[in-house]
Amino acid sequence: MGKLVMGYWDCPVCGSQGIRGDVVNCPSCGRARGDVQFYLKNVAEGETREENERGDIEYMDEAKAQSFSKNPDWYCSFCNSLNSDNAQFCGNCGASRADSESNYFDQLKKKQEQEAAELAAQPQPAARTQPKSKRPLLILAAVVIGIILLFTYLNGNKTAGDLKVTALNWVRNIQIEEYREFSESGWTLPDGAELTDQKSEYHHSDSVLSHYVDREVQRSRRVLDHYETYYTYEDRGNGSFEEVSHQRPVYETEYYTETIQEPVFIQVPRYQTKYYYNIWRWTPTREATADGTDHNAVWPETNLGENEREGQKSEDYRFTVTDSKGESTTYRLAESDWRNLNEGDSISITSRRTGADAFISDEKGNRIADIYPVR
Ligand SMILES: [Zn+2]
Ligand SMILES: [Zn+2]
Repeated sequence: MGKLVMGYWDCPVCGSQGIRGDVVNCPSCGRARGDVQFYLKNVAEGETREENERGDIEYMDEAKAQSFSKNPDWYCSFCNSLNSDNAQFCGNCGASRADSESNYFDQLKKKQEQEAAELAAQPQPAARTQPKSKRPLLILAAVVIGIILLFTYLNGNKTAGDLKVTALNWVRNIQIEEYREFSESGWTLPDGAELTDQKSEYHHSDSVLSHYVDREVQRSRRVLDHYETYYTYEDRGNGSFEEVSHQRPVYETEYYTETIQEPVFIQVPRYQTKYYYNIWRWTPTREATADGTDHNAVWPETNLGENEREGQKSEDYRFTVTDSKGESTTYRLAESDWRNLNEGDSISITSRRTGADAFISDEKGNRIADIYPVR
């Protein structure tokens, strides 16, 4: 059995505090101690001896310890006062212990359950509902209207009228290809190629497991070092507390070396047959271009030689407009639209504020022909 420590109690009738556990009647009001909970001086509830830095724990001497009963006090069913386990009759009213229905711990448990039930029954503080302000709604409406206005504006047209067509241009181009023989090499032989040589050559390398090497790595683990003793204080329910010893394991970190097997890879070169061959191919060698500033767009003369043929064709039609300030802009457009334009024409061009491609329009902005900016 551990050493005994003096408990204390507060009088629930007159409020007198810090009455020693071996005193059964309140020194202030004289009432017998009833519904109380014992506590320790200088030690917080649940605190261990090791955690208690004040270190002034009030141990009882042997004689004092002997004066306390072994079991908790019992409650008198008639006057509700606490009586020692040693007493067979209530020290306050003389009632028999045989009529007692509970002891110190029964009463404490009942009280704690009651408190928990009361706490659970309390209505949860409802989340305060704030009067709803109309302000956020107004801001949202303003933002939505703003966005709609912006889109309407951006989608709007900007028509520039009174533009004079000051130049027309056309360019037509034909790529000319020649049938030529090439010397090439590769890992496959193409159809129609004339093989001239073939050799085994380096193609790629494979990573291949060669062997393992031992490598030492440092590791750590938690190991039990020793057990340490600590002390807590248990309410005996009679005005005294008992110091109880407990054991808990103390671990330490142990470092050790482990040998692991690490794979070693080598690069193994792989060879394949490489083909060397001659092959005939059509290849672009020159181009023929025709251009002009009138409507007489024609394809250029190609004057094809032996082993030549016409390849890709391209054509480009443009016009330049000059505004009233003398600023010129050039656009590309389809040949059929281009043929409808003449130098000296007055036209309107409509562009969108969103930056989409502009178009030739009438004065009201109705689309006549698509045009594209020249980059
Ligand atoms: Zn009192
Ligand atoms: Zn009594």
